[in-house]
Amino acid sequence: MTKTMSLPQAVLHALETLHNSGYEAYVVGGCVRDHLMGKIPHDYDICTSAMPCETIEVFSGYRTIETGLKHGTVTVLIGDTSLEITTFRTEGEYSDSRHPDTVDFVRSFREDAARRDFTMNSIGYSPHIGIADHYNGVQDIQNKLIRAVGDPETRFKEDALRILRALRFSAVTGFAIEQNTMLAIHKHSADIHNVSSERVFSELTKLICGDYAASVIDEYFDVITQVLPELAPMKDFQQHNPHHIYDVLHHTLKSLEAAPKDSILRWTILFHDVGKPSCFSMDENGIGHFYRHAHVSYEIAGNILRRLRASNNLIDRVSTLIRHHDTPIEINRTTIKKRMASLGEYVFFDLLQVMRADCRGLAPEYHYRLKEYDDIEYIAKEILAEAPCLTIRDLKISGNDLKQNGISPGPLMGRILNILLNEVLDEKTTNEREALIKRALEIEKTL
Ligand code: ATP
Ligand code: MG
Repeated sequence: MTKTMSLPQAVLHALETLHNSGYEAYVVGGCVRDHLMGKIPHDYDICTSAMPCETIEVFSGYRTIETGLKHGTVTVLIGDTSLEITTFRTEGEYSDSRHPDTVDFVRSFREDAARRDFTMNSIGYSPHIGIADHYNGVQDIQNKLIRAVGDPETRFKEDALRILRALRFSAVTGFAIEQNTMLAIHKHSADIHNVSSERVFSELTKLICGDYAASVIDEYFDVITQVLPELAPMKDFQQHNPHHIYDVLHHTLKSLEAAPKDSILRWTILFHDVGKPSCFSMDENGIGHFYRHAHVSYEIAGNILRRLRASNNLIDRVSTLIRHHDTPIEINRTTIKKRMASLGEYVFFDLLQVMRADCRGLAPEYHYRLKEYDDIEYIAKEILAEAPCLTIRDLKISGNDLKQNGISPGPLMGRILNILLNEVLDEKTTNEREALIKRALEIEKTL
């Protein structure tokens, strides 16, 4: 763990400029934490003893933006870097669960660090002072512990989003949550209902994309089901099916762990079997079935994601993948081409990833299917390399060509083009202009 932190030029310049004007200034929060953990920070937040108006004055030679002024934040543009510089502050209540009702500016970094959520996020760094660590954050990072700054119950009552943030940091870093912080999380989990959907969705997305998401969801299932109550029936729901050795929840968590760390794929996997409990039936041989569960899961997932105010694009993509996750793909060139044509190539490849992750949650004797997904992917890539015809737009014939041959635009032309596309996908007609025109005229006669 190095005591000096190398900072981007613009950040260093901002800290120096404040220092030279007689103010204290630190980089703080995520960037110091990431540095101490050996990760490359993705952005740098600066805090200072300068009041907002003083910051503006210090940076009078630069473009400054006053958007967050009420909360003490001034954005300064140095070269093409935009930096958020926030005055040391303490916070009042969070009655809208988004912004504190009041902020009081203070002159000491110690007081500013006290309002931060976890010890590992309360560490500052200044090139002049070095590490400023008032709440033993460095030690907690060394011990891989997430610990609330101050009394955990008070801190979670102030802002219940911190509960999900604790889970998120644990899911991303694999750090354990310190005992008292953990007890307060369980005790106050219902307060998450006061937090806005957007904040919940954003933290949950980061949580489920963590390397350790599965074990955090398992251990804090009481907290997760506060925001995702639809998951509750999955726990302990036995599948009575030879494909499965886990209940629905633990199958889902095994699959989640195996899925790439991509928000679309992870949300899809989290919800892909959420409809199973309500679709269960047992046949005369004692085997469990879940007919129509892909459709029911798709409906439940849509409801959850709309409630959490996810973007329409995410809802569409996740819904499509859930709806198709259980429809087998034959290892056959034409079938693969048709599936790619109907889903679009990007969805098709995402679906293969979903199927692979789903497969890893099955009983080991069914893992041979992973090899089949590799074969399907190989064939799909081979097809794509041939610049295939997958949509009507890819047909080497246009509406104009048909018009010149006496087929006027309208529903009939649309039907002919669709039939041509299907024949090309089935490799019954070649995608060449002359052949397509000839075939179009033949089809016209039969319609
Ligand atoms: P990330 O890597 O996701 O950016 P981060 O720790 O930087 O992690 P931000 O949401 O960018 O998280 O917040 C910056 C800093 O502000 C945090 O490190 C923490 O000190 C403080 N902070 C953020 N949200 C809260 C909160 N809800 N309560 C208290 N402090 C918070
Ligand atoms: Mg940050």
